[in-house]
Order: sequence, then C-alpha cells, then structure tokens
Amino acid sequence: MSQSLATVAYIGATILFILSLGGLSNPETSRRGNLFGMIGMALAVLATVFGPRVSPSGLAWIVGALVIGGGIGLYAARIVKMTQMPELVALMHSLVGLAACLVGFASYVDTSIQLEGAEKAIHEVEIYVGILIGAVTFSGSLIAFGKLAGKIGGKPLLLPARHWLNLAALLVVIWFGREFLNAHDVQAGMPALVVMTVIALLFGVHMVMAIGGADMPVVVSMLNSYSGWAAAATGFMLSNDLLIVTGALVGSSGAILSYIMCNAMNRNFISVIAGGFGSGGGAPAKKGDAAEPQGEVVPISAAETAELLREAKSVIIVPGYGMAVAQAQHTVYEITQTLREKGVNVRFAIHPVAGRMPGHMNVLLAEAKVPYDIVMEMDEINEDFPDADVAMVIGANDIVNPSALEDPASPIAGMPVLEVWKAKTSIVMKRSMASGYAGVDNPLFYKENNRMLFGDAKKMLDEVLVTLKG
Ligand code: NDP
Repeated sequence: MSQSLATVAYIGATILFILSLGGLSNPETSRRGNLFGMIGMALAVLATVFGPRVSPSGLAWIVGALVIGGGIGLYAARIVKMTQMPELVALMHSLVGLAACLVGFASYVDTSIQLEGAEKAIHEVEIYVGILIGAVTFSGSLIAFGKLAGKIGGKPLLLPARHWLNLAALLVVIWFGREFLNAHDVQAGMPALVVMTVIALLFGVHMVMAIGGADMPVVVSMLNSYSGWAAAATGFMLSNDLLIVTGALVGSSGAILSYIMCNAMNRNFISVIAGGFGSGGGAPAKKGDAAEPQGEVVPISAAETAELLREAKSVIIVPGYGMAVAQAQHTVYEITQTLREKGVNVRFAIHPVAGRMPGHMNVLLAEAKVPYDIVMEMDEINEDFPDADVAMVIGANDIVNPSALEDPASPIAGMPVLEVWKAKTSIVMKRSMASGYAGVDNPLFYKENNRMLFGDAKKMLDEVLVTLKG
C-alpha cells in the first residue's frame, strides 16, 4: 500500500472514530456508533499492517501476532459473562498500558533510530513519558480488575503519609528523568528508565489500592482515560498520527466521563485520587458480607408484589447490579409491557453509577428492548418519586441508600441517590440483607413503607409476571 493511500485510510479511520464517539453518546444511535468504530478499527489495522512502514519480512510476524491476539480476544469476548464485562474492560486497559511500556523500551534500544540534538531529546521525552503513563495504567488497571472481580477487597489501603509518598515518587521520577535525558548512550540511560518504570508500577498499585469501593466508577473511567493517553504516547514514539489522534480521543472522552462520574457522586477529582471514600462504616465489598440488622424489615411475596403493581397508577423501576447478575432484564421488560397494557405509567430511573460500568443498566434495558423514552436519568425522575405508587428496586443497593443524604457520618455521605422511599411503597428485590458494593448499611430496608422481596431477581420477577398475567 502506498503512503498516500495509507494516509487516506488513516483520515477515514479518524473520521469514523469521531462519528463512533458521537453515536455512543445516545442509546438510539449507539449501535451505529459501534459499527463506525468497528469499521474504523478494521481500516486502521489494515492500513497499518499493509502500509509502507511494514517490511515484507516483518509482515509474517505481525499477521502471526494478529491471529494469536485476535483469537484470544475473540475467545474472551465469547465466553465473558455480561457481569464480567467491567473486569474484562479493566484488563484490556492494562494491556494498552503494557503495550506502551514495551514499545517505549523497544524504541529506546532500537539502533535503527538515529536522531541528533533536539529531535533526540524530544524522542527520549516521548519514551520516558510514554513508559511512565503506560506503567501506571498497567498496574492500576490490574488492581482495578482485582477489585471489580472481588478478588481484592474494596476497603481502601491508606498507608501512613501516603500523600508524601506520592510526592516523593514524583520527585524521584523527575530526577531520574533528568538523568535519563543526560545519558550519552543506551547503557547509561537504561538504569534510570528501569527505576522510573518500577516506581510508576508501584504508584499505579498504590493509587488504585487507596480508592474506596464507592469511588470505583471514577477510577474505571479514569483508567479508561489513562489508557487513551498511553496509546497517544505510543503513537508519538512510533510517529503514528492515527494512534496519536485515537489515543487523544479516548483520553479526552475518558476524562469527560470521569468528570461526569465525579459530578454524579458529588465528589471532586482530587479527593477521589486522594482516596478513602467508602472507607468508614460498613464492611467493604467482599462477597456475601451482611450488614448488621438495624431494625425490623417487612417481607412481601411475589403475589403481593404483583397485586401492588396491578393496583398502581404510577410505577418507577430502579435497576441495579443485581438485575445484571440475575439477567432479569427480559422479565423486567415483559412486566413493563403487561403493566403498560393495563394502563399503568411505568418508568425506569437510572443512577449514573448503577451496576459496575458506565451505562451498564442502559445497555441491559436496551438489550431487552425497553423503549428509550421511559428510561430516565436520575436528575429527570428523582422529583417524581413522591407521586409514584410503587418504586420497585431490582438488585440495587448503594444507589438507593438514604444514609447518603441523611447521615453526614456515612462513608457515602453527599452522594446523590434515587429517593425511592418517597414513593407510597418501595419494594426492594434482593437475595439477603447483604450490603452493596460500597459495603454500607442501608436504612431503606427498615423504613415503614418499604417491603423486602427476598430471592433471586429473575426468579422473583418470573413469579410476579405469572401472577400479573393470571
Ligand atoms: P450494589 O452493588 O450496591 O448492590 C447490588 C445488590 O444486588 C446487592 O446488595 C445484592 O444483594 C443484590 N443482588 C446480587 N445478585 C442478585 C440477584 N441474583 N438477584 C437479586 N439481587 C441480587 O449495586 P448498585 O447498582 O446499587 O450500585 C452500584 C455500586 O457499584 C456503587 O457502589 C458504585 O459506586 C459501584 N461501582 C459502579 C461502577 C460503575 O461504573 N457503574 C464501577 C465500579 C463500582 P444480595 O446479595 O442480598 O442479593
């Protein structure tokens, strides 16, 4: 492929990536957005692999790597459960970071790159910064993977003088950066590069370990952003314009997402990075942990739930992570249809951090074909709970926890939540009294107008549907 053809293909891919991001901003256009992204990526890979910069001898290696890597990716995508998606995404981010590190070391030892003066200095800065971002992304994403998969507890690790430790790490990295740039050859520069890489890896571990369970959504989007910047840094090292543009797109959209997540949780970015949110109070998110009972709960049966729904004029459904675990979205859709046919006004309330990844609930509801116009954002619907007859909470916990508003000492104090307790009756569907991801007790369960429908969400909703249809 000639250089000019490759350039045209790169421009085409860039446009497709921008259209893809535009499409992903709205559920109705997200399928098309995904399609643009896939076509753009296929174009980018083809133009790079068959482009002028790959020699015929290198082609066999690249195609071999593509087949192996693509095969593993395909297999992972086929076997991954919907509930494991967030972990898989974190793992993918770690690979982008690893790639940036490897490309950085490779281009440092590559003897075919002969640069002098300012050009050499710029290339070395690119390598140093690229490896720095890549290493932080790599180790940070691995820890995020462990936390999302429940392999590492959600309780933040707060080392004494941790801010001083971070500052010291930054100063050491700057000092070694100077050493690296002053080195006359690869042998002299390599020790500084290796020391910086180790410090960056430790920093990535420390940064994510210090973040409390409830702040994980911000961390997930922040690492998404870092992976973009790591890709852009790789693009600079390889002088690949498309990689720079694509990395910058991912980096900046991830940064915007982090900002949105911070707003949704009423937190500022610096305090998230400083860590600790969700550290006090209840047990951290270890699977199966149960909160201390704080009063009496009133259980309800599936048949009674169906009765309440049938008699209601207005119902608001609040889905959470448990709906994803139970894969209950299709039954939720059927219940919605049945109620709407009976003239009940059914709407969905989506909290920005519901589930385990941004947009998690929207994806599940779209998959089940729930109409978009009855799926509302938290800000659009929170004021409507007092007018609702029934608020049905399906496998959600932290996002409907009133202590965020009522208890200033709560570890999640200040986080906006869906105010389901203001409905005439709220029904919480979950298997036990266990706490949610943030590990915080939930006083909603003990409120007078709240009922608990204990059991797997899919099983319970199937029973509700049978009664409703009967
Ligand atoms: P939570 O984790 O707070 O609560 C989910 C509840 O679902 C649990 O209490 C659990 O209770 C219940 N559950 C689990 N399986 C089932 C099942 N099969 N049937 C019925 N219920 C079930 O989820 P929320 O969606 O309320 O809140 C999201 C939390 O995740 C927030 O703390 C958020 O910060 C965090 N987070 C969000 C991310 C994002 O990007 N959205 C990323 C990372 C973390 P029980 O075991 O008793 O059934």
